[in-house]
Amino acid sequence: MSISRRDFLRIAGFSTLFGLGAKAAFEMLAPGELEAKLAPNPKALTAQRWAMVVDMRKLDDQTAQRCIEACHRIHNVPDFGNPVNPEDQVNPQDQNRWEIKWLWKEKFEHAFPGQEQPYVAERLHKLNFLLLCNHCNNPPCVRVCPTKATWKREDGVVMMDQHRCIGCRYCMAACPYGARSFNWRNPRPFIKNENQTYPTREIGVVEKCTLCAERLAKGQLPACVEVSNGALTVGDLNDAKSKVRELLRANFTIRRKPQLGSNPQVYYIV
Ligand code: SF4
Ligand code: SF4
Repeated sequence: MSISRRDFLRIAGFSTLFGLGAKAAFEMLAPGELEAKLAPNPKALTAQRWAMVVDMRKLDDQTAQRCIEACHRIHNVPDFGNPVNPEDQVNPQDQNRWEIKWLWKEKFEHAFPGQEQPYVAERLHKLNFLLLCNHCNNPPCVRVCPTKATWKREDGVVMMDQHRCIGCRYCMAACPYGARSFNWRNPRPFIKNENQTYPTREIGVVEKCTLCAERLAKGQLPACVEVSNGALTVGDLNDAKSKVRELLRANFTIRRKPQLGSNPQVYYIV
């Protein structure tokens, strides 16, 4: 994130007006938001209610892997490798809890428990579904966070600010989708090629997909969407003419655990 001295002083000035320190002003804003607030980009992609459609007919395994790599590369998501470092003395059965994932693959029965149809949907059981934060309309993770480190924007994107996160992991317990990861150890040594334009995290904080808010603010599509060859689409649910609405009108879609009332906004064409 590049912030000039002049920008910094402007922010500091505003925060003085509101009785805050300059540091507090920075900490109030999520990655990408600060720049967006300083100089709103006229090219920014906007929506009244963002949603994503994943077209499983177009999502082969290679494409899914490419999406994951793109997301994790640009967001400095650490790769702790497999197996975990023996020096950490982690039971191999526990190694999953070390993993940091914003976008990942899962079998049908794990992604959509209770929706299995072993005979009718045999094809579905062979697919790897691409999962991410569902940017729920009624996100339980937001309700339980004591510091407001996670919050839902007006356009539906559920954000995460690692500076405010105190590592209590209430949000992880509340999310019924396993969409959040906790940094059990310093992730920085495990980032192969750091993207200098995006922040890194530290030990003891939670992270997850933010629908590439930093890219939307610059007029770019989310990285996973960009490399998905049309398998992933984002758009405005409130716009009847948007591509997501077109896809939802024309296809049968399912969502993850809709019965829980969190109202997930990632739809899967199966
Ligand atoms: S998927 Fe989980 S982390 Fe994402 S908004 Fe819903 S409850 Fe929160
Ligand atoms: S929208 Fe962005 S942050 Fe979320 S999974 Fe896709 S690439 Fe990752």
